[in-house]
Amino acid sequence: MTVDDHPAFIDGEAVKLVMDLLSVHGRSGEEREIADLVVKYLSKAGVPAKFITHDQAHRKSRRGGQIGNLIVKLPETMRGPRRLLMAHLDTVPLCVGAQPIIRGDEIFSRDSSTALGGDNRAGCAVILNALLSILRDGVPHPPLTFVWMVQEEVGLLGARHVTPSKLGKPQLCFNWDGGPPNVAVIGATGDDHLDIEIEGLASHAGAHPEDGVSATVITGLAIADLQKNGWHGKIVKGKQQGTSNIGSIRGGDATNVVTDRLAITAEVRSHQPAFRKQIIKAYEKAFRLAAKSVKNAQGQTGRIRFSTYDKYESFRLSPKEPSVRAAMEAIESIGLPAMTRVIDGGLDANWMTAHGFPTVTLGCGQAGIHTVNESLNIPDYLNACRIALRLATA
Ligand SMILES: [Zn+2]
Repeated sequence: MTVDDHPAFIDGEAVKLVMDLLSVHGRSGEEREIADLVVKYLSKAGVPAKFITHDQAHRKSRRGGQIGNLIVKLPETMRGPRRLLMAHLDTVPLCVGAQPIIRGDEIFSRDSSTALGGDNRAGCAVILNALLSILRDGVPHPPLTFVWMVQEEVGLLGARHVTPSKLGKPQLCFNWDGGPPNVAVIGATGDDHLDIEIEGLASHAGAHPEDGVSATVITGLAIADLQKNGWHGKIVKGKQQGTSNIGSIRGGDATNVVTDRLAITAEVRSHQPAFRKQIIKAYEKAFRLAAKSVKNAQGQTGRIRFSTYDKYESFRLSPKEPSVRAAMEAIESIGLPAMTRVIDGGLDANWMTAHGFPTVTLGCGQAGIHTVNESLNIPDYLNACRIALRLATA
């Protein structure tokens, strides 16, 4: 029997599965309960405990966390390159308290003050459903790796710190996250985080303002410079494009003190790694020049502390990449128009690709993610289930 001549999976069971996964909460770093539920399904389906492992991603994550990524490896029943199916387990905090209900073709949260969590319990259910269907019906399959990643929503930390040697050298990799089931995301932007500390000199703002160096003024001048020269917001310089954003400014606590310290966080995105570095340089230059230009009566200036770290690197897969070809073929095999897309956000696929596993990301019918209007379209979700089963077996 092959996937082509088999009903593959039972719609009702796939829907029950996603309803079950949606009703357990688990925001980033708090994935133990939802991981336990996945393991319960695996055990009930007869997956031997030795095939089920967790890595230590949470030990390496700067946010800590309860558990690492959940990894399941199934030995093959037919020859073929190993395939990896993955989805992230965590949901954004707005999903805590969600109770899924079905209305027509959509799943919503019963409570209008919470998001649903279809991002990404739908993805978790899609890959779990594929695994359960394969075992239940004895569908032949090549060696398979399933990964339920932790801490995606807080900076792709699970995928960043996954233990690559535990994945069994997969040659075709597929990730399920938000979006429609027929769109294959084959590229995404890179993102750097900036921490900028502006140190001035405090003085009494009424009695001796001339003795102070205002961190607020330095910051204002630097931001005005960035804005004037096109380095803030949408950035286009010749053929190069990117974005930057100053997301937070913290500091100061009294009106009668010249502000001696401000802390800024910002981000820089571009598909072109060298251009991100150039944007970061422009930021550093603007703040250092501003600091030099603000002096107190004694000629003293403030100081800048500038540090950055890469949140994730950009990637772009070729349409000829085996994972892309397989994804397009699987989408078309169920009668949907296959499309590719490159996005300006980050995905676990960024880190998987950086680890040497080119990964295509597909959606499962989630809409309005990270908002209280989030919904999951059931026909789209079932199509994602069909595509996943095909990618795992055909
Ligand atoms: Zn997501």
